Amino acid sequence: MPARPGTLDSCLIRIVCPLKRRSRQLATATHPLPRNQPWSHPPASTSIDNDQVARLASRPLHLLTLADLVRHGRPPLSASALFTSANFTLSLLPIRLAHRIQALRNLPFIVVSNPHISRIYNNYIHSLSTLLPYQERQINTLEEEIQFTEVMADLVQTHADTIPILARGFLECRKYISPADVTKFLDEHLRARIGTRLIAEQHIALHLSSQPHCNNTNNTHYPQDGSSSCIGVIDTALRPAEIIRHCETFVSDICELKYGARPRVIINGQPSTRLAHVPTHLEYILTELLKNAFRATVEAGQSREPIEVTIAASPSPTVPPVPDAIARTSPSLQQREEEEEAITRATPPPLPPPPGVVTIRIRDHGGGISPTNLRNIWAYSFTTFGEEEVLDLSHNGNGNMDALNAISGANSSGESSSLAGLGYGLPLGRAYAEHFGGGIVVQSLWGWGTDVYLRLRGLGEMG
Ligand code: ADP
Ligand code: MG
Repeated sequence: MPARPGTLDSCLIRIVCPLKRRSRQLATATHPLPRNQPWSHPPASTSIDNDQVARLASRPLHLLTLADLVRHGRPPLSASALFTSANFTLSLLPIRLAHRIQALRNLPFIVVSNPHISRIYNNYIHSLSTLLPYQERQINTLEEEIQFTEVMADLVQTHADTIPILARGFLECRKYISPADVTKFLDEHLRARIGTRLIAEQHIALHLSSQPHCNNTNNTHYPQDGSSSCIGVIDTALRPAEIIRHCETFVSDICELKYGARPRVIINGQPSTRLAHVPTHLEYILTELLKNAFRATVEAGQSREPIEVTIAASPSPTVPPVPDAIARTSPSLQQREEEEEAITRATPPPLPPPPGVVTIRIRDHGGGISPTNLRNIWAYSFTTFGEEEVLDLSHNGNGNMDALNAISGANSSGESSSLAGLGYGLPLGRAYAEHFGGGIVVQSLWGWGTDVYLRLRGLGEMG
């Protein structure tokens, strides 16, 4: 499927092309890259010193926050902010990659030997070996920064198809590893991957936003001027209602193709709510939740019943009122202002407002989820899609063509272009939501319908 606007894939295409162009311009025009300099691309070694991997993997992972990612500033960026972002990125990624290599090595040997899983393992080895030579140095010049950004773009692309490849690998290995162990590994691996890609993509996006002449005008998420609400891949004034409408169009189209029906979506509550978040993450989650709601609604013969999406923002923190005593005892406005000023001077500056919590409830009348299935919905690969043909892959051990088709049709974020079948929508959606402190809760009213609560935690107000 061609990359849909707004997905990580389409963003990457937009990132890599101008980046390569920019790099070529730089190499041939005003600032030719010096040849044989220490900063020319280090050759990627094919093997890695085991001690080095073990040393890196023993270092703790930095817990990534949205604040970390926006710290390096709004576009247009100064060169030094860009170098700080590159060095911050470089300080995090090798440790993260080494942790993943260790986790893959800890899988049963017969599983890592599977060609699909060993391909992923080799991708990690390749990426770490490409980054290691850069790690000892600091990035202080534009040339170094451009080369580093190219390495980041390469890293993001190398790992683009990880999810469908791993899905296929584990499907083939289901005799040798239990569904619980697969879910445990995938949950950890895919959560770590979300953070790693975000770190790399944020630097790439910041780099692009620092290029005033970069021909990247179609890019809504990575704007070029300082007037937008975006800082790299983060939109500080993201409107979930807009994303819902965008996802609805995509999901309605594939639903109509599969079933010949398009249930309506009603958005109510507080549709003008905004929060700081990563648009591509929210798009992934909402697409998967809407697919589930559409499928259940149509299969239950309730296509005329609308799917109701309610947006609720937690109340904004209130400004503490002026103490009563001042109001009562101050005879004049001037005196009151002086007293207030004295109180302001005496008390520390107010803390930034707590991060806003936005809850999105997706309510369908699709019959709900049976108690037996409810126990399994968070397992990777669990699906009831095509149940008549027995598609409960990991659990019954029966793979079939639908599963493989869903896997082939899945894109870089594991998003399938079919309405269901991969069994990754809920667990991966929850992993995305939890990445920045949110979550997903499923409430099934068996025999009637399902309510899914998606909780998102933004960054609070960002001026
Ligand atoms: P997939 O959609 O590929 O099957 P998911 O992880 O998205 O994978 O969902 C797993 C299973 O959970 C679905 O196959 C379905 O049985 C059940 N499910 C999820 N959402 C709903 C819903 N809104 N209504 C009924 N069943 C649902
Ligand atoms: Mg689904």
